[in-house]
Amino acid sequence: MGNSGVAVGSAGPLAQAIAAFRSSLRGWLTGLGDAAYDSARRVYNAMVDRRGRLIARCAGVADVMHCANFAREEGLPPAIRGGSHSVPGFGTWDNALVIDLGGIKGIQVDPARRVARVQAGCTWGDFDHATQAFGLATPGGLISTTGVAGLTLGAVSATSRGATGLRAIT
Ligand SMILES: Cc1cc2nc3c(=O)[nH]c(=O)nc-3n(C[C@H](O)[C@H](O)[C@H](O)COP(=O)(O)OP(=O)(O)OC[C@H]3O[C@@H](n4cnc5c(N)ncnc54)[C@H](O)[C@@H]3O)c2cc1C
Repeated sequence: MGNSGVAVGSAGPLAQAIAAFRSSLRGWLTGLGDAAYDSARRVYNAMVDRRGRLIARCAGVADVMHCANFAREEGLPPAIRGGSHSVPGFGTWDNALVIDLGGIKGIQVDPARRVARVQAGCTWGDFDHATQAFGLATPGGLISTTGVAGLTLGAVSATSRGATGLRAIT
């Protein structure tokens, strides 16, 4: 499969823009030609074989903002990736700037209010680990590596659904 992407280390105006973009991130950036690119582009469903132009592994909200600005300025379509479990691979697209949120894993549990605030890179395993420490739980994905954000936005079945019903209908 072809790709018109520019390697992070190559020369030219776009490469300069990419170098500046990379230096603005606390997380890491990879592109075609990098040793890390091929493993970074893979998603859970191995039948999905897409090649984003660049993949940014964000370390926090500021990185996401830099990604959104860079994508707008360079005319790159953004692809948002959480837990990478989308069966059709909706978290990655050819020639996109893949904004990988998987490293943003903050969770705050308020046991008095029985509320958990979960950042966009958390999986259901991360969520269960944090909430069970307080004796709390909520219906979630059956597989612990599924992303909380992607499942909440676009899926319907949940653990303990026999007792609690569907977690969400979108
Ligand atoms: C092994 C496996 C087990 C599963 N188990 C269950 C289950 O038990 N119950 C169930 O209901 N579903 C289940 N699913 C389906 C899964 O919930 C959905 O595919 C879900 O969308 C995956 O979310 P993700 O974040 O892991 O995936 P991703 O591929 O990262 O994201 C899925 C979609 O959500 C978007 N997205 C992710 N995060 C954000 C964000 N922060 N902001 C905006 N858009 C975002 C992505 O762009 C993409 O379109 C399972 C899938 C697999 C492969």
